[in-house]
Amino acid sequence: MTSSTSPEPDLLDLLVVGGGMGGIAAVHEAVAHGLSVRGLEGGSGLGGVWFWNRYPGARCDTESLDYSFSFSPELDQEWSWTERYPTQPELEDYLNHVVDRFDLRRHFQLETLVTELEWEEQALRWRVTTSRGMYLARHVTLATGMLHHRVLPDYPGMETFAGESFHTAAWPADLDLTGKRVAVVGTGSSGIQVVGPVAEVAAELHVFQRSANYIIPAQQGRLDPDEYAEVKRTYPERRKQLRHANGGGLWLSGTGRSALDDTPEQRELEYGRAWGKGGFHFLVTYDDLTTNQAANDTAGEFLRRKLPSLVGKPELLPLLTPKPDVSVGIKRIGVDVGFYAAFDHDHVHLVDARATPITGITPTGISTTDRDIDVDVIVYATGFDAFTGSINQITIRGTGGRLLTDAWADGPRTWHGMMVAGFPNLFMICGPGGPNITANVPALSELEARWISDLVVAVRAEGAHAVDADADEQERWTAQVEADARQTLYASHDTWFNGANVAGKARVYPTYTRGATRYYDLIEDLAAAGYPGLHRLAAVVPADARAS
Ligand SMILES: Cc1cc2nc3c(=O)[nH]c(=O)nc-3n(C[C@H](O)[C@H](O)[C@H](O)COP(=O)(O)OP(=O)(O)OC[C@H]3O[C@@H](n4cnc5c(N)ncnc54)[C@H](O)[C@@H]3O)c2cc1C
Repeated sequence: MTSSTSPEPDLLDLLVVGGGMGGIAAVHEAVAHGLSVRGLEGGSGLGGVWFWNRYPGARCDTESLDYSFSFSPELDQEWSWTERYPTQPELEDYLNHVVDRFDLRRHFQLETLVTELEWEEQALRWRVTTSRGMYLARHVTLATGMLHHRVLPDYPGMETFAGESFHTAAWPADLDLTGKRVAVVGTGSSGIQVVGPVAEVAAELHVFQRSANYIIPAQQGRLDPDEYAEVKRTYPERRKQLRHANGGGLWLSGTGRSALDDTPEQRELEYGRAWGKGGFHFLVTYDDLTTNQAANDTAGEFLRRKLPSLVGKPELLPLLTPKPDVSVGIKRIGVDVGFYAAFDHDHVHLVDARATPITGITPTGISTTDRDIDVDVIVYATGFDAFTGSINQITIRGTGGRLLTDAWADGPRTWHGMMVAGFPNLFMICGPGGPNITANVPALSELEARWISDLVVAVRAEGAHAVDADADEQERWTAQVEADARQTLYASHDTWFNGANVAGKARVYPTYTRGATRYYDLIEDLAAAGYPGLHRLAAVVPADARAS
């Protein structure tokens, strides 16, 4: 690093932006490949999502046994999860344990926000501007998180609120909600997690819901020691099998059939079984729940019938029942530990923010078209600008000074979700155009991190300094990803998956939907074939330096 008056800093082989799961995997692989590497993290701690999202109830909806790195059999044996779905504190501990266990902390610098990346075409390197000086790096990996850049509403008067208000991902340390009047705005994945714990301590809780979603009991619980011992004994096999499970690397069980192939009685049985397992399992009961509306409708019908068994107050059922235009899992399925139960309490109120929208924030609370609700604290559980949000916060200039935000004006265009034509030596982990949310994130992060470090070493061995994705190949890939996505229900429903939660954002679902397993095979084949589709660039030697 250097300040603007210091001499140029040393050239790093790789600079990694972000200290979450992706950044940790990227730094780990770079070190293992013998590369000089620096990880820069804007926050004051490592862990990414599991550092920032400290709201009560924050938890991973993917099961702990599989939401973990697989690169070290020793780590699998040493670490012990306590619950089926890991909570934020446990995940933060785990990721910090990994960092220390593999001596990675010394490669990271905290509280360092990357603001600009500029490709220097002659020198074939990235000039990286940060809140704490400048770096030079031959390669840069963006591990900036697909759900990091927060979205806040823009209600009139927000700044006038006299109490405390904040996004779920910016939960104030030491906040005590005991005896307070609290509003939670939003009932997406974070909203439904936070409502239960807040209800336990708040004097009054008002939950503002725009549309009801399908929410499935998690069946959370402590891990059975005998079953866990068996998992530890067979972890390597489990990891191998996981890579192929459900085409996505998630350990979920399904029938492998179309919902429409079964009789109503068979479906009842299968849905009942999946419901009993809890959480995301339900979504893979049948293969076509995310691609065929008629199939999805059968799942919705089952779940709507189950709702009365979860909701204590029958008068709330109409509001908590998803409307027919909400498809199961197309708005991210909710995994419930205490959301529905919270409404059994008389001090917890559900506000229909569709029928009576919020019109503004006042110094004392929230105004709707219907009434004013006075509160002491407002929690905005309003989600994130997914996939591209945090990348677009960095001013990235590639070949010819072209801005990435211009290249992506109509939505992200990538080469295999990892590179962008015209932005040589720039990589992404869990990027748009890859399997991102459909994959098991730790597995995808590890694989992409390894692939990137392998590439850096291989290209250097060829005598080249840089690689750039072929523009035509990128267009082919992106067109295919978009065409595939249009075959799913995700593309046609307005959710954060397709950018509908951000005003002015291009409406695309930037996710490779043919399955993470296929994607893993594909990128490994590319590596084995010598990375076709990537142009090699060599540094231009100045005329006066050439041999005479
Ligand atoms: C509340 C919540 C719940 C989730 N639950 C699940 C789940 O159940 N299952 C699942 O598979 N996934 C879940 N996810 C998705 C989650 O994003 C991934 O699982 C995983 O944590 C992503 O890791 P990452 O390292 O790619 O990104 P992140 O963990 O988001 O880390 C990115 C890091 O980059 C840093 N950063 C960003 N921009 C800059 C910059 N310009 N300069 C410096 N640093 C920067 C950020 O500060 C952040 O720490 C959840 C996400 C959220 C927000």
